Amino acid sequence: MRPTYSLIVPLYNEQDTLPELVRRLTAVMDDLDAPSELVLVNDGSHDQSLRLLRSFHQQDDRICYINFARNFGHQIAVTAGLNFVRGDMVVILDADLQDPPELIPELIQQWRSGFQVVYAQRTKRVQESWLKRSLAYWFYRILRQLSDVDIPTDAGDFCLLDRSVIDILNKMPERTRYLRGLRSWIGFNQTAVPFSRDARFAGEVKYTFRKSLKLAMNGIVSFSQVPLRLSTYLGLFAAFVSLIMGFLILYWRIFVPNSPLTGFTMILIAIFFLGAIQLVSIGILGEYIGRIYEEVKGRPLYTISEMAGLES
Ligand code: UDP
Ligand code: MG
Repeated sequence: MRPTYSLIVPLYNEQDTLPELVRRLTAVMDDLDAPSELVLVNDGSHDQSLRLLRSFHQQDDRICYINFARNFGHQIAVTAGLNFVRGDMVVILDADLQDPPELIPELIQQWRSGFQVVYAQRTKRVQESWLKRSLAYWFYRILRQLSDVDIPTDAGDFCLLDRSVIDILNKMPERTRYLRGLRSWIGFNQTAVPFSRDARFAGEVKYTFRKSLKLAMNGIVSFSQVPLRLSTYLGLFAAFVSLIMGFLILYWRIFVPNSPLTGFTMILIAIFFLGAIQLVSIGILGEYIGRIYEEVKGRPLYTISEMAGLES
C-alpha cells in the first residue's frame, strides 16, 4: 500500500545515533493515522551505517534506504530522497536528532489545515558554539537582504513539503541546490512552527566548516546577483578614490613640496588597492562561472550503489 507520510533522513557516518533515531522515529510513525515510510539516505558513510540500514529494513519494511556510491553532500542526499518518496507529503529531518521527531505530528497538523510548506524555525540552538551561532545569525540576515526571494531566517532543512511542492522540486534541474531557498522560491502557503534545536545526540558534526561555507556560498550565489553588481560599485568607488588622490597629490606638490607621501608610498597603495579590487571582482565572477560550468556538464546529481524498499 502506498504510504501517506514519508520521512527523509540524510546521514553521513551516523552509526552512533542511528539506533536511537530509528527508535524515536518509528515510535512517532506508529502513532500516525495513516501508513508511513522512512527513507534513509546514506551519503557515502564509511562506518557501520550501511550495515545498520540493512538490518533496519529487514526488521521493518516501512524503513527503506538509498546508499550513495560516495559522499555527495547533504543537499544532494535530501534531493535523492525527494526523488524516491511516495507519500502525499514528506518531512525532512537530520539524522543526529537535533530536529526532534516528536515535532512531526505538529507539522502534519499544519499541513492538514492547508499549508503546503511547513518549516520548523529555530528559536534556540542548544550547545552550538558561539561562533557558529553568530555566523549563522548573520548569514541568514545578509542572504535575506541580498536575495529577491523571501527566505525566512533561522529555518533549516527541517520541514514538511506537500506532494505538489515535491513534484516541482523534482522537476528543477539545477545542481547547486540550496533547498531552503528553492522551498521559498516555490511559493504556495507556507508557515513556520517554532522549535528549540536540541544538541547532537552522538558523534561529531558532519557539516565541517568548509561544507557550511560552501552551502552558504551556494545560497548567496543561487539566490542573488548583487555580488556581480558589487564589482561595478567597487570600480566606481576606486575611480572616486583615485580622483581624490590625484587632487591630494596636486595639493601636496604645490604646498608641501617635500612630503614623502607624494613619493612611491602613494603609488604602492594605489597599486595594491586596485589589484585587490580586481582580484575580488574576478573571484566573484569565478563563483558564478564555476556554477554555470557545473550546470552545463549536466552530470547526474548522484550515483546509487544499493537501495531497498523503493522502486528504482
Ligand atoms: N550529512 C550528510 N552528508 C554530509 C554531511 C552531513 O548527509 O556530507 C548529514 C548528517 O549526517 C546529518 C545532517 O546532514 O544528518 C546534518 O549534519 P550535521 O548535524 O553534521 O550539521 P549541522 O546541520 O548540525 O550543522
Ligand atoms: Mg546536526
